Parts: sequence; C-alpha cells; structure tokens
Amino acid sequence: MSSADLSLEHHEFGEYVRRWLAENAPPPPPERLPITPIEVMTIGQRDYLQAWQRKCYDAGLVGADYPKDYGGHGNIGFQRIANQEMNRAGVPFLINIVGLSMAAPTILQHGTEEQKRKFIPGCLSGEEIWCQGFSEPGAGSDLANQRTSAVRLGDEWIVNGHKVWTSLGHFAKWMILVTRTSKDDKYNGLTYFLCPIEGHPGVTVRPLVKITGETGFNEVFFQDVRIPDAYRLDDVGKGWAVAMTTLLAERGASEGAGSGGGGGESAIRDLIALARGTWRNGLLAADDPVTRDAIMKRAIVAEGLRQNAKRARVPALCDHPMRLPLQQKLTGSEFQQDNARLGVEIAGAHSTLYKRDPRAPQAGHWPLAFLNSYGNTIAAGTNEIQRNILGERVLGLPKSK
Ligand SMILES: Cc1cc2nc3c(=O)[nH]c(=O)nc-3n(C[C@H](O)[C@H](O)[C@H](O)COP(=O)(O)OP(=O)(O)OC[C@H]3O[C@@H](n4cnc5c(N)ncnc54)[C@H](O)[C@@H]3O)c2cc1C
Repeated sequence: MSSADLSLEHHEFGEYVRRWLAENAPPPPPERLPITPIEVMTIGQRDYLQAWQRKCYDAGLVGADYPKDYGGHGNIGFQRIANQEMNRAGVPFLINIVGLSMAAPTILQHGTEEQKRKFIPGCLSGEEIWCQGFSEPGAGSDLANQRTSAVRLGDEWIVNGHKVWTSLGHFAKWMILVTRTSKDDKYNGLTYFLCPIEGHPGVTVRPLVKITGETGFNEVFFQDVRIPDAYRLDDVGKGWAVAMTTLLAERGASEGAGSGGGGGESAIRDLIALARGTWRNGLLAADDPVTRDAIMKRAIVAEGLRQNAKRARVPALCDHPMRLPLQQKLTGSEFQQDNARLGVEIAGAHSTLYKRDPRAPQAGHWPLAFLNSYGNTIAAGTNEIQRNILGERVLGLPKSK
C-alpha cells in the first residue's frame, strides 16, 4: 500500500472515530469518576468504565494495532489516531490501564503463542483487569532489589512475598509479577510471571489511602501462592529484560493498546473554562493578561508534547531508544503538575474548597488534580531517576556519585 493510500486510510479512520465518539458518548456516570484509572474505588465506577472500554473495543478504538489472532483489529498505525481522538473528545478514560499499556505490549513481545491468545483479548476488551506487581517496600527505584521469591516445584512455582503501591490490585484478575528466583545474581536472578490475583489462594489484597483521600493503591501479600509454569513469561532469569519492556511501554514508548481521556488538549480546555468562570478583583480571570499568558505557556508545552509524540514515530529522529519515552514521561508528568498548580492559582481562595463542596469551582477538580499530580512524578520511576538515566545513559554525562 502506498503512503498516500495509507494516509487516506488514516484520515478516514480518524473521521470514523470522531463520528463514533460523537454518536456514542457515554451517559453520565452513576457517581463521580476519579481523575485517572488508578483511583477507581467503587464497583459502580468500575462497572461503568469497564462497559465503556468494552464498547470502545467493540467499535475498533482499542486494540486497533493488535493482531486479530490475539483479539485485536489488525490495523497497524491506527491506535495512535484513536487515542488522539478519544483525548480530544474528552470521553472517560479506559480503566484497564495496566492491561493496555503494560501487560499487553509485554506479552506480545515475550509471550508464547498460547499466552498471547489467552491473555491479550481480555486486556483489550477490559474484561480482565490487570495490575502491576513490581514495587516492594525495599524495591522501588532500585527495582532489581526484589525479595518476593518464586521457587519451582514440578510444574508450578511457589511465591512468597509482599508487593506495594499496586494500583487497581483490588479489582485485578491478573498481575504482571516480578519475582526473585535466584539470590546469586541481582539482575539475572529475576523471573516474570502472569499471576492470577482475584480469589487466588494465598493472595491478600489490602487497600491503601492516598493523599487525595482516595484508595486505588494496594498492598498485595503472597503466602505460598501457586503459579503454573505455563504462566511464566519468557525464560527463567530473564525477568529484568522483560520488566524493561514493560517499563518502556509504561513510559510511553508505544501507543499501547489504547488510552482515552485527560490529554493535553482537554487540560488546556479545562483551564480556559476555569478562567472564564472565575472573577478576580472585579475582572474575569480570562481577561487578565497575566493569567492569559500563563495559560498560553501551558498550551505551548502541550503542543511541544504532541510534537514530541510525533517525532517518536520517525526512526531517523530517535537517536536513542530511551530518549523520547523518558523525556515524555518526565515532561508529561510535570506538565500535568504545572497545569494543576495554575488551576489552583486561578481559582485562588476557592481552591481550598474540596470535591464535596458545592461551591468548589469545577466540582473541586483543581486541588484534587494538584494533589494527584505528585503521584505521576513518582509512578513509573521517579522523575529524579528519569533525569539520572537521561543524563547518564542518553546524554553520556558523568555518573552521579
Ligand atoms: C500513583 C502511583 C502509582 C503506582 N502504581 C504502581 C503499581 O501499580 N505497581 C507497582 O509496582 N508500583 C507502583 N508504584 C510505585 C512506583 O513505581 C514507586 O513509587 C517508584 O518506583 C519509586 O519507588 P519508591 O516509592 O520505593 O521510592 P524510593 O525508590 O525509595 O525513592 C525515594 C526518593 O529517593 C529518590 N531516589 C532514589 N534513588 C535515587 C537515585 N539513585 N538518585 C536520585 N534520587 C533517588 C527518589 O527519586 C525518591 O524521591 C506507583 C507509585 C505511584 C506514586
């Protein structure tokens, strides 16, 4: 197919997605939705979001790039367009964030044929919610310091240990799990599993409360948990390499299998709406030149992030495979934080009104978004660590002591 034919197909798909979203916007949720999928707390929120993901999947907006044999739609290059249109339309996010942007790409790259057929379709449709079991009390930035052990017993592995900060663990059917299978080698002693969670004997999920007052985080305890060897992903001792695939995908190296809601454009739209509805010193904030300038600066960063995402698709512009994903994670999370800070500033004293206060501007979104934004600068590897990796491995600067 020529590039002209392909761009026509992309254009037509974009038109289709825009039309579909306009005609199929979901009904208002039964209860307030959180800002991101990792704060989904109630069964009502979960059911509503799972039904929305299923609808988007059935319409071809999720799993667009994935092979048909694994439940995808086989239209390579289309997922980016669907993600972009979903962000633009400001529709609800897709709940299965770990399944879509971490588990599915990792299984696609490292899984056996059987694993791909068994696990990927449920990630895409949202029927099976996934969580990520990487972090432990002593293994965050130093991810290779894993203590959760897996010991082989015939065709099974026996897992014992403790994971923490497990987003969506309370609704998850499966976990992507990194374990220690040998103490002799820090990196080559790790093995990666696809572990059943929901109702699985020996697994205990305990919720943790965040600074926002929401749950969504969990601790997960493993006591003599049995995992069939058929659920091991890639070879014994290859867990570090597999985890790196997951982390690159998590930090945005690929379009993933779908995303929606909360993009740069909608953040700028929300700031403009706030400024248009806020009076300060007898003047609408939207008429205040300083506020206008601040919002424009955010809009320029949003455009920069959008252009960077485009650059990431041109191999000739990607001098180092980690540069753009790490850069996007770093600047994207700080972009969200700066937007939220500006929202709080525009709302002024009203920012002290929290989400259940009827007088709170935009239903208390801004203080919640501000508190929430600190999670994004920590999750998927802290921004300090991203800066170190960019400096040392991408730019070749001397190592920090
Ligand atoms: C919102 C959110 C969702 C998350 N969801 C999940 C999940 O679903 N599954 C999962 O497995 N984990 C999850 N995490 C955990 C996340 O991956 C870790 O919090 C992160 O990797 C940091 O690890 P830590 O919390 O142990 O901090 P630490 O590693 O203890 O770091 C503490 C501080 O020291 C700094 N620091 C540490 N080492 C260095 C260094 N070498 N150089 C410079 N500074 C350093 C860090 O930047 C940080 O500021 C989530 C975290 C958040 C905030």
